[in-house]
Amino acid sequence: MKVHVDTDKCALHGQCSFAAPEVFDFDENDDLVYDATPDDSQRAAVEQALRACPVLAIEIQG
Ligand code: SF4
Repeated sequence: MKVHVDTDKCALHGQCSFAAPEVFDFDENDDLVYDATPDDSQRAAVEQALRACPVLAIEIQG
């Protein structure tokens, strides 16, 4: 699966990293970093992150 985050929309709320901590994280500058091609075992967590994102910045492709 492929994940894309619209970083223009992302307001760094962090809900995605609670929902899918193995895919979404923050670096030492508090910027969002994420795995753009997570294993399919992460699908449910990523879908939860997508629903949790308050600005709808997360997109799942495939
Ligand atoms: S929940 Fe949405 S706005 Fe918040 S850090 Fe994640 S992608 Fe960005």
